[in-house]
Amino acid sequence: MDCLFCKILEKEIPADVIYEDDRAIAFRDINPQAPFHALVIPRRHIHSLNELTTEDRETVGHLVLVAAKLAEEHGFAADGYRTLLNCNSHGGQTVFHIHLHVLGGKPMGWPPY
Ligand code: C5P
Repeated sequence: MDCLFCKILEKEIPADVIYEDDRAIAFRDINPQAPFHALVIPRRHIHSLNELTTEDRETVGHLVLVAAKLAEEHGFAADGYRTLLNCNSHGGQTVFHIHLHVLGGKPMGWPPY
């Protein structure tokens, strides 16, 4: 499968991996939009949110728990942070393997456009 993030998972493409477990990994975004910007991705290839099934519930919940763990470990949990999942073109998704953005280290704006 020609998926950039599957290649990162297979270590065919380098990434700055900061967390790994049996279900997910997290790596620093190559084009950070905040002092801390990481992507948490499931090991299982899921194209977008639209392809999620009830079987993915635990996996998606796990991504959120990893995000919270990263925020704690990197010292910005108390100040707060932003997590987001972009879906398809209107959502701004450019890589089609779901990934939870975790942004921290500065106040975030709202709305996000
Ligand atoms: O949500 P979206 O699909 O737009 O996010 C993709 C993200 O993947 C971008 O923030 C981009 O900088 C990041 N990226 C990366 N490493 C790559 C390719 C893309 O961190 N090799």
